[in-house]
Amino acid sequence: MTSTDKNIPVVAQSDVVVVGGGAAGVTAAVSAARNGCSVTLLERYHHLGGMASGGMVLVLDDMVNGKEIVVSGIVDEFVARMQKEGMAVVPPEEDRYASDEMYRKWARWGVHDFHQAQKPQPIVYACAFDPDAWKRTSLDLVRENNINLRLHSWFSDAIVEDGAVKGVICQTKMGRQAIRGDIVIDTTGDCDVAMAAGADFSQGQYIVTTVFRLANVDTDEAERFEHEEPEEFAKINRQARRIIGGAWEMWWLKTPIPGVVWCNCPHMPGYDGVSVEDLTKAEYEGRERMMGLFEYVRENMPGFKQSYMLGAAEQVGVRTTRMLQGEYVVTKDDIVNRRYFEDTVCRGRDYYTPYRALLPRQVDQLIVAGRHYSAEPEAQKRSREIPPCMVQGEVAGIAASLALQENSMIRDVDYRKIQKQMRAQGADPGDIPSANATGVDSLAQSA
Ligand SMILES: Cc1cc2nc3c(=O)[nH]c(=O)nc-3n(C[C@H](O)[C@H](O)[C@H](O)COP(=O)(O)OP(=O)(O)OC[C@H]3O[C@@H](n4cnc5c(N)ncnc54)[C@H](O)[C@@H]3O)c2cc1C
Repeated sequence: MTSTDKNIPVVAQSDVVVVGGGAAGVTAAVSAARNGCSVTLLERYHHLGGMASGGMVLVLDDMVNGKEIVVSGIVDEFVARMQKEGMAVVPPEEDRYASDEMYRKWARWGVHDFHQAQKPQPIVYACAFDPDAWKRTSLDLVRENNINLRLHSWFSDAIVEDGAVKGVICQTKMGRQAIRGDIVIDTTGDCDVAMAAGADFSQGQYIVTTVFRLANVDTDEAERFEHEEPEEFAKINRQARRIIGGAWEMWWLKTPIPGVVWCNCPHMPGYDGVSVEDLTKAEYEGRERMMGLFEYVRENMPGFKQSYMLGAAEQVGVRTTRMLQGEYVVTKDDIVNRRYFEDTVCRGRDYYTPYRALLPRQVDQLIVAGRHYSAEPEAQKRSREIPPCMVQGEVAGIAASLALQENSMIRDVDYRKIQKQMRAQGADPGDIPSANATGVDSLAQSA
């Protein structure tokens, strides 16, 4: 912050400032508020949810290690609230196993364990949901927890004094505005605050996607065709994937609204998810590709003949950009070998996240949560699903409140206290490693 910035009005002041209202940010804000902090939540867009709503990424997965549910906490409240509205679908426990029948019944909801090599892949605890239900749930939780929400506030600079973050500056329609706080949680997904505050980061990049939805799809007919005429289906599906130019095998999935499917494609490599030029080009390219696929399946794919284009997601789907280089950088080996850390504070699937991976090395009173956490890009690729990002947020909120209660640096908060509070609020801190964890070692060994 420069000397001229003294003229910027301070529009809010709170114990904790959370920057970025995606899945990780909303969870962080709720967690901090429930632990007694006053909280301001800043978001650049008009909605909350980030990729989970604006990006139309509509399946919560990576919550199980085999049969064991290992991701829990505030994410469960999202599932329960959306289920109550009929806007979330979870396979019942009795259907969660591997069989051809269950695969046919459930795979087009995206609730199968796609990390398993076995075929058919087992049906597991996962949740298909509606994007607007996610936005409503986020707003409800924010209001119920008395969080000071400021939408339309684009973070532009960090206020750093004596090596510690003291707040942030946002660009708004009303000009620049300052928001001061004792602890800042960066949940922008792109390390925006950490970078501005002078923390080390690395540059990751991966495919981007303009997710879109089709309506009036006869999903029963589409599934019948897939399972009862597999050779003909494979031929048409191959061509559809060729036209979109990169897609997972299951490029369309059901949503809670009958006849509406979401399409997790196209895969567009070579785009930098923070570059204005690249993101602009991606809007054009994504739309061209999705219209090509739409026209082809409407002509050729049983079940899609009466479908229509509902449109692309509000936000281009960005998976990886800048990643924090924090006190510990999680490696691909850590993830694939299911390495357990003594200071594990949360987990996803079969991997563990140490508290140090949320902490920048140089900057004080700043913590990050979400897809830009401190990991190698190849590790993040395997560990960035929505629920694990949310538990990181839950940890960040608890850590902020502990630091404030103890009048200490957030990096000095005792991870055991975080683990304890995670359990107290119904979240799994991953402190008890599963049987398939490896390298159960001490902090001293892993430093
Ligand atoms: C196409 C695609 C498919 C995926 N498929 C799945 C899947 O099937 N299941 C799954 O669980 N995960 C999936 N993922 C991964 C998952 O969606 C993300 O990793 C996760 O949602 C990230 O959450 P986050 O809160 O960390 O970040 P984000 O959702 O990116 O949230 C960041 C928030 O910060 C805000 N923000 C950013 N910069 C600023 C700023 N300067 N000022 C103010 N606000 C700012 C953003 O607007 C946004 O609201 C997919 C991702 C993509 C892109």
